Amino acid sequence: MKRILTGDRPTGRLHLGHYVGSLKNRVKLQDEYECFFIIADLHTLTTRPEKTGELKDNIFQMVLDYLSVGIDPKKSTIYIQSQIPEVCELAVIFANLTTVPRLERMPTLKDVMRDADITIPSYGLLGYPILQAADILMVQANLVPVGKDQQSHVEVAREVAKDFNRTYSQVFPEPKALIGEVPTLPGTDGSSKMSKSAGNVINLSDSAEEVEKKVMSMYTDPKRIHSTDPGTVENNPVFIYLDAFGSPSDREQITKYKELYREGRVGDIEVKKYLIKILNNFLQPIRENRARYERDPELVERILKEGTEKARKEAQKTLSEVKKAMKLDYFG
Ligand code: ATP
Ligand code: MG
Repeated sequence: MKRILTGDRPTGRLHLGHYVGSLKNRVKLQDEYECFFIIADLHTLTTRPEKTGELKDNIFQMVLDYLSVGIDPKKSTIYIQSQIPEVCELAVIFANLTTVPRLERMPTLKDVMRDADITIPSYGLLGYPILQAADILMVQANLVPVGKDQQSHVEVAREVAKDFNRTYSQVFPEPKALIGEVPTLPGTDGSSKMSKSAGNVINLSDSAEEVEKKVMSMYTDPKRIHSTDPGTVENNPVFIYLDAFGSPSDREQITKYKELYREGRVGDIEVKKYLIKILNNFLQPIRENRARYERDPELVERILKEGTEKARKEAQKTLSEVKKAMKLDYFG
């Protein structure tokens, strides 16, 4: 069975952007692939080295996010990156298969530095794609479901795999990115990416009231002053969210609202109220699942512990193949 690896940094709650970018594909592909979902706590050190005290709670909430959208722990392995020391060993080896300018050119580096207010990147931040390549290749993943912003990182993992196989011997598959239906979901403020660190998110764990409040203050078409002005649907996050989260039975109404909006025959408030309904319909079952798991923290803990043990076994297996291929298996 082919394998999937993907995951998230435990820097806060997961949001609608994570859902369309990656979670939706994860849930869909659980039966077709053997899935590994990494909670990438070591990756948070690259931008928030002083915030390690928050990780434990964030990790717990992230597992709840996973379980509530339908990731099934009986089918998929959820694990914590920092509990797999083999990944760091592999990263040290991979660090020699990429050049510094290659990493300096990563488009994500500039974005992350800007968002996190960093002027000079640490060695760890520059090396982020290398550690991520180790995550991906450690479990021999073939497919990596991610948002568009992560595509360039998967490309590095692919190059590292090719280079390793060519230099030593064939150990790794060449992983491919799988981009979600909505490659990058915009934020509620109209900026190009909904992002935890930008504070422009609707979380999967938000209550119906929170959703209502956030949607009511959402950015729409800034050029439209009166509800009788013709409005723009394209790049308008309200319509992007309607398209992304409406169910098939909502399509007709969504198309109608788009027409009316373009013609200046419907107000922002009416469309927003409709979006609130759509989002709350989408989120309601997710909230119910979450509440169920929240009542059983021991189960959540067990899922994480067993997942981490399973992932570690895979890591040890891969690392011993790597050492054999490199003739570093001195003691057999
Ligand atoms: P941070 O601001 O802490 O970097 P983030 O919101 O960007 O958080 P990540 O943990 O970096 O989230 O991303 C996890 C996964 O979710 C990645 O695959 C990423 O591409 C995807 N993702 C995050 N935000 C979006 C979005 N707005 N649209 C589509 N995919 C997204
Ligand atoms: Mg990010």
